[in-house]
Amino acid sequence: MLIIPCPWCGDRDESEFKYGGEAHIERPLDPDALTDEAWADFLFMRRNTKGPFLERWMHAAGCRRWFNLARDTATNQVFGAYRIGERAPAAYWDAVGQPAEKNGKTPPGWRVVTGGAAEATPAAEVALAARKVSA
Ligand SMILES: [Zn+2]
Repeated sequence: MLIIPCPWCGDRDESEFKYGGEAHIERPLDPDALTDEAWADFLFMRRNTKGPFLERWMHAAGCRRWFNLARDTATNQVFGAYRIGERAPAAYWDAVGQPAEKNGKTPPGWRVVTGGAAEATPAAEVALAARKVSA
């Protein structure tokens, strides 16, 4: 059983929540400027991390608010929950072995650096970054 700490309601059973996928995905500022491949990458391609991961959840049977949860997908260890716009808890950064000051920095593309697999940048993001620099 997974107990999720809603930032507004406190600890609740997983059955009260709806999973929302990977956290910290930013919508491209100019979608019309994207290639079909880059748009498809933004829409459909998400990490499938085994280990510490930042994900979105919604408290469907409670306050109905969205928030982010730092969780180990292999062990279900919860590092902490945080509201949209806040930074991931320090326990998460300790688990991924990266300094917390990387948190919140925006790399090229639409993913905010969240640790772990963030350095694996799909080719479409690199192409988008090149386009932004030349524009
Ligand atoms: Zn709640």
